[in-house]
Amino acid sequence: MWLTIDVEEVTDMNFDVKWREKPQLVYEEYIDTFIEFSKNRKATAFVLGSFAKKYPDIVQKLSQNGVEIACHGLHHNLVYTEEFDTWSKDLSEAKKILQELTGKPVHGYRSPSWSMPFEKKYYEKLAQIGFTYSSSYFPMKNYMYGNSINKKTPFIIYTDYGEIQERPIPKNIIPFSGGFYLRVLPLWFLKILFKRTKNSILYVHPYELIDENLLRYYKKYAAYNLDYFLAFYASSSARNKIRILLNEK
Ligand SMILES: [Zn+2]
Repeated sequence: MWLTIDVEEVTDMNFDVKWREKPQLVYEEYIDTFIEFSKNRKATAFVLGSFAKKYPDIVQKLSQNGVEIACHGLHHNLVYTEEFDTWSKDLSEAKKILQELTGKPVHGYRSPSWSMPFEKKYYEKLAQIGFTYSSSYFPMKNYMYGNSINKKTPFIIYTDYGEIQERPIPKNIIPFSGGFYLRVLPLWFLKILFKRTKNSILYVHPYELIDENLLRYYKKYAAYNLDYFLAFYASSSARNKIRILLNEK
């Protein structure tokens, strides 16, 4: 199991949540939980450049604790809504910020909300900037993101600037291994799906590592609407589910 986290602020998410006030979150605490989860396993943090600028110590702490630092872009804009040149310029800048912070090369990229189109020019640019792999491929199309091509195992994309390995998020009829799906699906069902999946990738966000029912917590800060519900619906603390799932693998 490859444990991954998309390191961003809760207000970065692309759901159209109307915030009444900025949620009070202690990111360092959630990252400490992630570091605890990452012990003795392959773990990667896809860090947003804007987060790294704001919380450089947190990124350094992750790196010093053996978590691979990879890139989640500079801002959490949906890639398909951006000019290609703006995306690539921001991406180079984010990679540089992370490398300077940690003193280590950054090899991996995950696009915000899986929004990078599955097109060769994007992979070519990733190779040109110096990435060797991507984890941007979400195996189900929904209203905001995703791909409809059925890829279950890592595959190579060849470009003029070199090869990029794409590591697709696993699917068993539906995606299940992180975010909204992991929050919503019951633990017994998640256990079966993880058991049946080889090379699984678990993905979490810092705000999923709070020790509370997310929906109750965010009611304090956000106005209720459908996007709010989609973003935060959770039957219980996602953190406990993740802890149990990791102990099983
Ligand atoms: Zn993200």
